[in-house]
Amino acid sequence: MTCKKCGFDNFIKHGMRTNKYSQKQVYQCKQCNSFFTIKNNLNSIYSFYIIQEVLDHFCQGKSYAKIVSLVNEKEKINLSKSTVHRWVQTVKNKKWQK
Ligand SMILES: [Zn+2]
Repeated sequence: MTCKKCGFDNFIKHGMRTNKYSQKQVYQCKQCNSFFTIKNNLNSIYSFYIIQEVLDHFCQGKSYAKIVSLVNEKEKINLSKSTVHRWVQTVKNKKWQK
């Protein structure tokens, strides 16, 4: 995940933005202070909270296997590695919404 403006890859969370269609996590680039949001349209089966948790683990450099076992354990769900992989790829492919 990199900033569209400056290419920096370090973000801080800046709260949630919610409307009747979607819920978005707002991020702020640590370098140029641009704001970005990510929409909850990755996978409707899982809650945005869980997707967010997966992406947080990924940003901390954990492996897919590790992420799956951590999140499944904590949330009592049955995520697969391929689901986690798909979410990460979706974010990496710059589905950022301005
Ligand atoms: Zn930036």
